[in-house]
Amino acid sequence: MSDIAGIVSATTQKLIGMAESALASAIKTKGEKEFLGFEGTAFYLPLAYSLLGLEVKDLKGAQDIIKNALLLSEGKPLANGLKVPHLDGLLSKGLATLLIEELLAAVLKLNADGYLGFVPDTVLRSLGVQLVDGRIAGIAVVIGRAKDNPLAVKIIRGFQEKNIVSLLVGNKGEKNIKDQLVEENVELGLDNYIVPLGNEELASIFAVNFAIRAALSFGGCKAGQWQEALKYAQERVPAFVVVLGKLSEVIVTTGLGVLNLGFPIITDQDAPPVGKIETTKYEALVVENNYEKIVARSIETRGIKIKVAHVPIPVLYGPAFEGERVRKENLKVEFGSKSSTAFEYLTARPMDKVQDGKVELIGPDVSEAPEKSLPLGILVEVAARNFNKDFEPILERQIHRYLNEAQGVMHMGQREMIWVRISQEAFDKGFRIKHFGTIIHAMLHKDFGAIVDKIQITLFTKDEDVRKHLKGAMDAFTARDERLKDLVDEKVDTFYSCALCQSFAPNHICIITPERLGLCGAYSWLDAKAAFEITPSGGNQPIKKGICLDERLGQWRAINDFIFEKSNKTINEVSMYSLLVAPQSSCGCFECIVALVPEANGVMVVSRDYTGLTPLGMTFTQLAGSVGGGVQTPGFIGVGKLYLTSKKFISSEGGLGRIVWMPKELKDVLQAKIEQRAQALGLSDFFGKIADETNAVTLEELIGFLNKRKHPALSMPALI
Ligand code: SF4
Ligand code: ZN
Repeated sequence: MSDIAGIVSATTQKLIGMAESALASAIKTKGEKEFLGFEGTAFYLPLAYSLLGLEVKDLKGAQDIIKNALLLSEGKPLANGLKVPHLDGLLSKGLATLLIEELLAAVLKLNADGYLGFVPDTVLRSLGVQLVDGRIAGIAVVIGRAKDNPLAVKIIRGFQEKNIVSLLVGNKGEKNIKDQLVEENVELGLDNYIVPLGNEELASIFAVNFAIRAALSFGGCKAGQWQEALKYAQERVPAFVVVLGKLSEVIVTTGLGVLNLGFPIITDQDAPPVGKIETTKYEALVVENNYEKIVARSIETRGIKIKVAHVPIPVLYGPAFEGERVRKENLKVEFGSKSSTAFEYLTARPMDKVQDGKVELIGPDVSEAPEKSLPLGILVEVAARNFNKDFEPILERQIHRYLNEAQGVMHMGQREMIWVRISQEAFDKGFRIKHFGTIIHAMLHKDFGAIVDKIQITLFTKDEDVRKHLKGAMDAFTARDERLKDLVDEKVDTFYSCALCQSFAPNHICIITPERLGLCGAYSWLDAKAAFEITPSGGNQPIKKGICLDERLGQWRAINDFIFEKSNKTINEVSMYSLLVAPQSSCGCFECIVALVPEANGVMVVSRDYTGLTPLGMTFTQLAGSVGGGVQTPGFIGVGKLYLTSKKFISSEGGLGRIVWMPKELKDVLQAKIEQRAQALGLSDFFGKIADETNAVTLEELIGFLNKRKHPALSMPALI
């Protein structure tokens, strides 16, 4: 251990020295007031903010980080008590190194072409739901490079198959694992669960300050609460580090820092293994030089539970392949969109009319396709003893994800508007049209086995068959839409809770009603109802509304009692329809934020993908920083997009007519729905009265615009 201690001390000192001189020269050329920070975060330099409580905004403020890192490296306690004594002070030095690396990355504006660099808050938020629902099982920080290209592909594909996101970090000047994957034509990107962070060791800090922000965004940890934040990372962030190839001094020291967050290290290099320490669940450092075993060993060492379905098809299968595209150049055959007629339709049938596991193709297969296109009808027939017809659309909607998760298959749209592609590569591996049925059968059984007993799939590829069955499907779609229109809060006696995000935001609960979906946008009332029937003891529980306490606010005694209990007694009451009085709390993965604009007597809405400034002078990310963590913030709510045009959208404050501003893109997506709802409310030409970034970015511009257009909010009762 003594030689490691020497290496670590020297490296920490060296990095502190580097930071001092980088900072000094930056101050000399640009002045102390020069901005310092990363794009796309509300948490300044996130590690310094979280662990030290420092809001570093400029070069001057950065000096405090150096002071603290120095103390920490000497094992002395800091002002907020931060001290980590484990492993003879090595972890303390490691942590000091992380703080310095973050500072260096910011001062040197560490970034390289083709790499993501700093991971913005929005990425974290969009990953939130995927982590809680299991689509993402873990995060691998992969540093260095594999022995050869095929092994690199093997490891990363192995992680993809197990639903693990790989964050790649290189060694400056050397070929790294990202280069290896690119040479092998592996498609990179967040959608594919492979994110190259940077081409030098220092970039591993972007994985660290990404992880610590989970504690800030979802865990409700405040600045400087280092104990809570580290504990959160140890217990709730399923990450680990894989070091391939050279173990440099910086990597060793950084690795010790990372152990503070509970992330174990798995390496193919000779190193003294380290058993369990106080911060890790199992071993802290594991040596595994058998490449075949690295994936399994990593998962085991971090204690990650993996649930993967076995789907008997000739290509890889899993959520990591969901986002991959099939481009024209490697297209074998496509169905639907402009090229042909295509649809998918799922319906319930009597038990004796369905033969479980039967998959039939009626018409030509891919190999017999005259051109690169074929018509396609996917008819899924399900049966169960007590099947609830309301669940048909829920099951049908899964087809999109199920087919997309096959490597080399792309699926878009739903109902009669689908567009499906099979790649040449998938075809070469033996993928055929029948496999659509194989996938749907296996996955519906896996996810919905509790509510469906039998599933049979018929695939049509002759134009006359497709057209014939499409007609029947269209009638069913119309009838379905009519039924859904009737689904309103007043007509049901039960709402559903969703506690999925509690693994991240321990005090947060969503209450889902027919007219207000979960704030992540992924769970409707019907989804929650189905989920409850599938897993009665799961995250979605029915709550009988019972006695109404306030109809306008949307408060019921039973809902309040439930929330109090399940929020660990932190929330007493919740209004379903109000922004100002006891609004719902937010975990952090909201699609949009609705925020009070007092000067306009209305509210603005900002969506996750809008990166610009809003009239409140803040970006989505900055606003989001104060809305999450499972607390109620009167005047702010996180919502799913579809709630904006619901009849119950902040109905207690006057509803849709209060919206004064939203990003243009969101406005355009919702245009038809906004116009419909505005008409029902008797608001004339309302759509044109909502400002967006093309006509108002500042508050003054907004007020000017609203006055000119005579926005209805201006003449509504005062909000505050
Ligand atoms: Fe999380 Fe709410 Fe979505 Fe459930 S509905 S996953 S609790 S955001
Ligand atoms: Zn959430």
